[in-house]
Amino acid sequence: MSNLPSEPEFEQAYKELYYTLENSTLFKKNPEYRTALKVISIPERVIQFRVIWEDDNGDLQVNRGYRVQFNSALGPYKGGLRLHPSVNLSILKFLGFEQIFKNALTGLMMGGGKGGSDFDPKGKSDNEIRRFCVSFMRELARYIGADTDVPAGDIGVGGREIGYMFGAYRRERNKFTGVLTGKGLHWGGSLIRPEATGFGLVYYVGHMLEYAGVTDGWKNKRVSISGSGNVAQYAALKVIELGGKVVSLSDSKGSLIATGEQGVTPEDIAAIAELKLNRGSLSDYSHKDNLKYLDGVRPWVHVGKVDIALPSATQNEVSKEEAEALVAAGCKFIAEGSNMGCTLEAIEVFENERREKKGEAIWYAPGKAANCGGVAVSGLEMSQNSQRLAWTKEEVDSKLKEIMKCAFFQGLNTAKEYVEATEGEYPSLVAGSNIAGFVKVARAM
Ligand code: GLU
Repeated sequence: MSNLPSEPEFEQAYKELYYTLENSTLFKKNPEYRTALKVISIPERVIQFRVIWEDDNGDLQVNRGYRVQFNSALGPYKGGLRLHPSVNLSILKFLGFEQIFKNALTGLMMGGGKGGSDFDPKGKSDNEIRRFCVSFMRELARYIGADTDVPAGDIGVGGREIGYMFGAYRRERNKFTGVLTGKGLHWGGSLIRPEATGFGLVYYVGHMLEYAGVTDGWKNKRVSISGSGNVAQYAALKVIELGGKVVSLSDSKGSLIATGEQGVTPEDIAAIAELKLNRGSLSDYSHKDNLKYLDGVRPWVHVGKVDIALPSATQNEVSKEEAEALVAAGCKFIAEGSNMGCTLEAIEVFENERREKKGEAIWYAPGKAANCGGVAVSGLEMSQNSQRLAWTKEEVDSKLKEIMKCAFFQGLNTAKEYVEATEGEYPSLVAGSNIAGFVKVARAM
């Protein structure tokens, strides 16, 4: 990385992987994997382009568009598109890098990629978003395809944006293929895709609870969730369905904290989903008796006692201090719905606890394992598109459950195989998942 401009987010994601590989027996057993790591850390291809679009005043606007085609050893590049003003190459490289190993953990044939733009959907009209998406896809269309690269949603890209882009691709290339996932149900989408990341996260944590000997699963657990987008909404609904209590949600401006015994309700979540679709802020929802709104803060230090934390907003949303506060608040399980939700220092807090306190400790699951349900159902959407069939809800949900179970046990068993541990220690899910994902890709390469 020496003579290149600094890429802090990518370097963080690389270090997280590298440390766990280095501190295991992997390179001793397989010295050739050091070379594989060098190769994997450079994207196969990076595409950058400009996107010109017309705003509602008839003025021309311009943004930067990107697609990082990181690794195709396991299948077509696969990964979302992020529309957010913070988007730059470092962020997309970190996301694309994570995506390689996450996709490998699903067990499906998908390589890793990521793309997006620094376009900010906030405050834009539907027409402006449509014109941006069409213009973005006009350029991107020449680089993607059902067997080449299959984008999907991420922050700022939901069903509506995928619809605009899919229409633009169809016109541009005169092809109806599964070139994007997260499509609407009536034009090639899969049942359970919108729910998949959140549901999958909860299924994954269910296995952590079971392994740790928690006999009543989610029942009466206080669950702190950050974010209020697609991942947070469906994770919260599943937690409530399984008997847990959701004590927080958040957005980029502040947090909603449950005040009474009741916690966030499914009705709250439905109303927040509507609010978010119209690009509203959680502060507009602070009039409820069961919830208080705290401006400008993340939820972690404000929720009181917590059993389980599910960061589901964005990268680096749990700092070292917040990790320490979660430990002090009694939190025993933390699993990322977001990509790289915890800073390296926060992970170190959790991993130290795990090593030192053993079965009494906090147990941390990284995003590339815990949130792989979203891209997994994207993979199932690709399969359905290739077959020109649509599977039932039950079929997709049961496949998702199986994939999350495999993702959990792969991480667990790989950690047991490659990481030295003392009696009674929970296996490191971050090390195990990193090694399991990495080995699959390295072998295929
Ligand atoms: N953006 C999601 C992720 O981070 C989904 C990607 C996809 O479905 O391709 O995994």
